[in-house]
Amino acid sequence: MFLRELAARIGSIKGAGGKAEEQLANANINNAGDLLRHYPRDWQDRRCIIPLKNFSRYPAVCTVVQVTSHFWFNFRGNKTLKAEVEDQTGKAFLICYGCNQFYIKKELAVGSYLRLWGSFSYRYGELQSSDFETEPCAGQEEENSDGLLSKSRFFGRIVPVYPLSKGITMGLIRRLMLNALEQYAGAIEDELPEEIIQRDGLLHKSGALLSMHFPDSWEERDAALKTLVYEELFYLEMMIGKRALERRSFSRRKSGEEEAGDTPLGSPASLEKNALSLSPALSSAAPSSIDFTPLQKRLIERLPFTLTPGQIEAVKELNTDMDGIYPMARLLQGDVGSGKTLVSFLAALKAIELGGQAALMAPTELLARQHAENAAKLLEPLGIQVCFLTGNLKTAGRRPLLKALAAGEIDFIIGTHALFSRDTVYHALRLVIIDEQHRFGVAQRQAVMEKGDHPDLLMMSATPIPRTLAFTVFGDLDVSVIRDMPPGRKSIMTYLKRESNAGEVYNYVRKELAKGRQAYFVYPLIEASEKVKTADILKDLYSMADRLAKEIFPQFKIALIHSKLDEEEKRQIMECFRKGEIHILAATSVVEVGVDVPNASCMVIEHAERFGLSALHQLRGRVGRGKDQAYCFLVYSDEYTDTAKQRLLIMLENTDGFVIAEEDLRLRGPGLITGTEQSGYLNLGLADPIRDALRLEQARKDAFAILERDPGLLLPEHQRIRKALQYEQLIQVV
Ligand code: ADP
Ligand code: MG
Repeated sequence: MFLRELAARIGSIKGAGGKAEEQLANANINNAGDLLRHYPRDWQDRRCIIPLKNFSRYPAVCTVVQVTSHFWFNFRGNKTLKAEVEDQTGKAFLICYGCNQFYIKKELAVGSYLRLWGSFSYRYGELQSSDFETEPCAGQEEENSDGLLSKSRFFGRIVPVYPLSKGITMGLIRRLMLNALEQYAGAIEDELPEEIIQRDGLLHKSGALLSMHFPDSWEERDAALKTLVYEELFYLEMMIGKRALERRSFSRRKSGEEEAGDTPLGSPASLEKNALSLSPALSSAAPSSIDFTPLQKRLIERLPFTLTPGQIEAVKELNTDMDGIYPMARLLQGDVGSGKTLVSFLAALKAIELGGQAALMAPTELLARQHAENAAKLLEPLGIQVCFLTGNLKTAGRRPLLKALAAGEIDFIIGTHALFSRDTVYHALRLVIIDEQHRFGVAQRQAVMEKGDHPDLLMMSATPIPRTLAFTVFGDLDVSVIRDMPPGRKSIMTYLKRESNAGEVYNYVRKELAKGRQAYFVYPLIEASEKVKTADILKDLYSMADRLAKEIFPQFKIALIHSKLDEEEKRQIMECFRKGEIHILAATSVVEVGVDVPNASCMVIEHAERFGLSALHQLRGRVGRGKDQAYCFLVYSDEYTDTAKQRLLIMLENTDGFVIAEEDLRLRGPGLITGTEQSGYLNLGLADPIRDALRLEQARKDAFAILERDPGLLLPEHQRIRKALQYEQLIQVV
């Protein structure tokens, strides 16, 4: 039986009363398997005696004591026990807040001996602890001559410390865990191939569970951790590998065109073609010398600038993919302002020339509208039918549009996720473009693909996904990276300012505004009512917009924008800002994505410490889009600590979004960056793709080698993998 098949009720575990079942259910531990997968967050070494007199040298003492007397005192109206205990080195007091009488009578009776684990400190002139655990024992002889404590259930050994949630105590979970291990661990089968277990000196699963929860030594714990981490990574890569194979099993060639015996995954020839690439496609397939298509050429000729080398390369890669026999699945990464939109328009032209339709989905209506306006300007002169669709479009306008789409009269449709609502029907959807792909949930991205028959997929991300993570998350995608920026961009000058010096920033911005430039002011909160109680000092958008308008910049026009305004209002405000009728746009991070106003030269972010680095980088990318020198001011709270300031310094030292994303990842963890946190995409518990990068690479090699040899996992030695994979949750990129 696999651990994930162990569904025995909590009630079946020795010592688990009906109440335990309920309590654990609150923590989402619903059966014995869940319990055994509830891994410790830490361990305490209770093997050596640490006597009372050494309390200050260790986080806790671990010793054998005798209870010598009881004192009662009043604590908040409760009669509370203070038990005096002593070991061979000294005396101390155990403070028993809210202890039950039974425990006091049974374990803490005067004269009885205890094993004791507790953290002590001096209070009121005596050594005290209110954070301790005890276990009755026979007497001082528990301590052997080597200074070791004799082993019992929770003493004289390494003891796990579990993450707790409401209603569960450490004692309960430890007791049940030990019993569950005794009852069930022995029967748990390995999910990893035997070969790998042997090769890497990993533990068998049943042993790994025992050693993870109650290791006999640190070496054993490390081996258990290594085993369990590897198992997670192996199955993650197995899923990615399988998905890559599945995608490549669909061929655009008509059946008549197929070579004899060329089944998608079967023949050696196709296997070679399908061979899973181990370099995570970050270095993409060598672009062929394929030229631009006629429409692409016409668009390029009409542009007032030339494409950057990175853009040219990306378009060639896309063209090659779209001519290939497998549907494209490509991630286009490029820093803010690197010109990804144009590349995606060129891809749309290619799809249209191939006789299909293209759809571009953007996360906000604001951004979608901007793209649609752009596309209309650039593509309509080429005879392309472009249209814009959002959820806000009412039935009257919507119906004819959808009709035209279904009839194939529209070539390129741009919008929000409304593009993929139920009533949207395509004539021949050939290319799906997802802008700011990390902003979409898994389900939305999935719905996209179902609107066509294996359409090509182009995802774009301006939050560069760090190499380390791309490896994990986008393991089955091809990746194009635009590394260069359109020429003539001045670097943005970035400054850190304490809040108390914000006046200097305002003065600077005033000078820029006087020159005819525009500015953004960004705040973490919309309104004061959102404030959490500790954050009374936070400036919010509404009150600051008021101050900016009345006190700080009375001579300039200010508008405010945030996600809760309705779309029409947002559109009008952006329109006015773009036209220069508004000088200052006070905003929340809604301006983070895509907004493109070249005359804006100042970005002021107040409470910059409240934003992630990648968000700051995105926000900074809103300026410096024109010919003028641009400035970014990061204003941080006076209370902000120096160590935390280090984080903002990264923004001063780096302009490369990739480097910033790596740092962000290191500081905040992967989910927050890829937007995969909520979707639970990275189905990882113990493994960490950054810390375990080397293991991850190994897991990928192992998994892909197996799939290459045996794509259907039909060989007898792969049976356990095939079975285990049934339990893997479908992890989806699109
Ligand atoms: P992002 O990659 O952040 O989505 P955009 O596609 O919004 O960047 O491009 C930013 C700006 O750069 C746009 O105003 C676009 O017209 C302009 N641009 C794109 N490509 C070039 C180029 N090769 N040379 C000059 N400007 C360009
Ligand atoms: Mg963009």
